Amino acid sequence: MTIIKAIRGTRDILPTEVGYWQQVEKTARQIFSQACYQEIRTPIFEQTTLFERGIGTNTDVVGKEMYTFLDKGDRSLTLRPEGTAGVVRALIEHNLYSSGGVQRLWYTGPMFRYERPQAGRQRQFHQIGLELIGTSDPRGDVEAIAIATDLLRNLGLVNLHLAINSVGTGEDRLLYRQALIDYLTPYQQELDPDSQVRLLNNPLRILDSKDPKTQEIAQNAPKIIDYLSQPSREHFERVQQLLTDLGISYQLNHCLVRGLDYYTHTAFEIQSQDLGAQATVCGGGRYDGLVKELGGPETPAVGWAIGLERLIILLQQKSAVSIVQPDFYLVSRGHEAEAKALILAQKLRYLGLTVELDLSGSTFAKQFKRASRQGAIACLVLGDTEAETDTIQLKWLKTQTQETLTIAELLAKIPDLNKQLAANK
Ligand code: ATP
Ligand code: MG
Repeated sequence: MTIIKAIRGTRDILPTEVGYWQQVEKTARQIFSQACYQEIRTPIFEQTTLFERGIGTNTDVVGKEMYTFLDKGDRSLTLRPEGTAGVVRALIEHNLYSSGGVQRLWYTGPMFRYERPQAGRQRQFHQIGLELIGTSDPRGDVEAIAIATDLLRNLGLVNLHLAINSVGTGEDRLLYRQALIDYLTPYQQELDPDSQVRLLNNPLRILDSKDPKTQEIAQNAPKIIDYLSQPSREHFERVQQLLTDLGISYQLNHCLVRGLDYYTHTAFEIQSQDLGAQATVCGGGRYDGLVKELGGPETPAVGWAIGLERLIILLQQKSAVSIVQPDFYLVSRGHEAEAKALILAQKLRYLGLTVELDLSGSTFAKQFKRASRQGAIACLVLGDTEAETDTIQLKWLKTQTQETLTIAELLAKIPDLNKQLAANK
């Protein structure tokens, strides 16, 4: 029989590595809630038009990477390739903006893009993201960036670099777009094939092409910040000043762009030197036009998304994460003893202990071996004699010392035992 394997570009997150994921989620939850961001959970699939309008048909994501299918009712649906469009749809659908003020939201979950799988690039991957909706204040841009850098710092990550740019407003870009086309047209034949197409439909995206020759040409292109209007320039200067005030270092990267009209002002990325080709851990920026584009009222917003697979590659390089180890491993043999062990395991868990019950029915020796392998601190042993006398053997694995206690004595000793368990770790 052929063995069924996980689909190319997807990965199982096994118990040995899930600790990293839990560590990230725990740290993120804490940082988000301290900054008063609330979690939002949206569906994994949406109408295809949401992403076409929300991300733009001229982007790689929509043009090439979407998992789009017809359901049995002939509706075109798409597995979400990113989180912002769904969050904004939910915001509009539930009138979340009607309370006035800002909405501070975060999300996490799987995203789907049909890309060539490689290290740090999958077809099902995970993001954690944040959206700050309802303010155009540059402090909002900086709050969002600071939360991303705090999260990464709290996870102990170093060697990270923040790059920022401003793409101004749609109007600023009209001027710039023409200057860019004028500059790039003589190089048309030297650009990579995708960029040649973009020259007509989305020239700004040429700036972040990954093709080395195109990158070289883009280096000397006119800079968008030289085309910003006065208010856009002031916004960007304020963002930079506030970053400096917060002690967050950054570099300007004139090639960092979002090519669509609803992206405005600040664009940023956080990259790591320790990730090879897939260096970007976090990407984000301001999108003042998106809520309106998706049918809501004119509402400014800023947000970012972190790719969790890339983040976890960095965490794995840094340190090992512990897996769950039992305080007590319950070893039992014989009909009566096995039933008592099951009951005792539950009672101990109710008292807050971590307890693993051996279900093998194998010899005591084999059960002890498994207890050590699981990293247990102590074994509780029940055989026929113990079952008859309502006792247990308590065996400390580190010192191999053993004592006999009644079950009542054991339960009464739990506060003491907690100290002994800690000492025997
Ligand atoms: P890239 O240039 O690496 O393709 P992107 O610009 O498409 O990234 P965004 O849409 O800004 O990425 O998504 C934010 C983050 O999500 C990225 O910085 C990255 O960490 C992660 N990410 C994006 N696509 C993938 C993928 N296919 N596999 C794993 N992580 C991804
Ligand atoms: Mg991509």
